[in-house]
Amino acid sequence: MTTDIDCVVLGAGVVGLAVAREMALAGREVLLVEAAETIGTGTSSRNSEVIHAGIYYPQNSLKAKLCVAGKQMLYEYCAARNIPHQRLGKLIVAATPEQSAQLGTIAQQARLNGVDDLYKISGAQARELEPALTCDAALVSPSTGIIDSHALMLSLQGDAESQGAQCVFHTRFSRGQIRDSGEFVLEFEGAEPMTLSANCLINATGLSAPSVARQLQGLPDAHVPQAYFCKGSYFTLSGRSPFSRLIYPMPDSAGLGIHLTLDLGGQAKFGPDTQWIDHEDYTLDPSRANAFYTAVRRFWPELPDGALNPGYTGMRPKIVDAASPAADFLISGPASHGIAGLVNLFGIESPGLTSCLALALSTRLALAQASHAA
Ligand SMILES: Cc1cc2nc3c(=O)[nH]c(=O)nc-3n(C[C@H](O)[C@H](O)[C@H](O)COP(=O)(O)OP(=O)(O)OC[C@H]3O[C@@H](n4cnc5c(N)ncnc54)[C@H](O)[C@@H]3O)c2cc1C
Repeated sequence: MTTDIDCVVLGAGVVGLAVAREMALAGREVLLVEAAETIGTGTSSRNSEVIHAGIYYPQNSLKAKLCVAGKQMLYEYCAARNIPHQRLGKLIVAATPEQSAQLGTIAQQARLNGVDDLYKISGAQARELEPALTCDAALVSPSTGIIDSHALMLSLQGDAESQGAQCVFHTRFSRGQIRDSGEFVLEFEGAEPMTLSANCLINATGLSAPSVARQLQGLPDAHVPQAYFCKGSYFTLSGRSPFSRLIYPMPDSAGLGIHLTLDLGGQAKFGPDTQWIDHEDYTLDPSRANAFYTAVRRFWPELPDGALNPGYTGMRPKIVDAASPAADFLISGPASHGIAGLVNLFGIESPGLTSCLALALSTRLALAQASHAA
């Protein structure tokens, strides 16, 4: 079968869905193609479901800008569409006086990013808010929240479809070609293998984005980063949570440290930790609980033995290795690779859920930018 379509979006995670919605709202004809049986089976359903404030990222990075803008857009969208969410707030806790001295640096970084509502409290004040907590001092982030990510994705899909976008599942992009005419000729495997041509292609395939981009004949390899995988495991807490806010330790180089988050039902979970591996693998090793007990007891010494149960894992779509500083989101559009109509979204790890609406807007704007000779 050969079909012609204006715009193809690959991947129906939260980012691909937001992009499909954005393009459809802009009046484009959109086909959203997903390899799995339904929306959001990848990283979008294997994360902490936290609406991040935008605190830690380097000033002027895409992560900082799109998280801060995306948070605002997301809260407004959730309110307009009745998507379950709660602005619970979070505490960033310092375990020692040395760590307390670093809280000011975190607050300063947040201010540079446009997050100016953080404030520092003493250990005693933190215990007034959260009696089970032990810490030397803490930063309060009032704008951090939690969201029902599946309800969000359903709403994005509904918006896209009501604007005429079509979603197809069980259909995997296998390879493509960029014609001299500027057309993309795309081949798909699945229940109904097909080849179609499109004017515009957006690769939002998450962990697979680099390997998908490498299957595009005509895109030089220099514009495709190496993929790395960093697994994060979660353990859930038996019984009621003694905390009503999110509790984060000080961040480390690969992630935000083993933190406590709550779901909308009030169930507490801890994670994700960091484990660099060389392929996609969602198995959870129960023995990792030992390190969780140690990490959690730094801020909650009364965590009972045996209270942690294996939860789930997620994979961070990294584009640099463990030894390198964290990479920014990479929205690789015509202005960087010179190919009109093509955007590859690489390294969309956290805060990708928070940033999804802002990422979608940036993707549409990147498509509109002039290309140059690559
Ligand atoms: C452990 C962890 C915790 C996180 N916590 C948070 C958080 O609390 N807050 C936050 O803001 N962000 C968080 N994130 C980041 C957030 O989850 C991601 O940025 C976001 O879900 C990425 O969405 P996506 O649509 O890019 O990717 P995905 O959800 O992975 O979607 C990609 C889709 O592409 C499909 N696909 C792959 N290959 C093909 C192909 N060849 N053809 C067609 N389809 C294909 C896949 O099946 C998949 O459905 C976290 C991430 C991790 C790993």
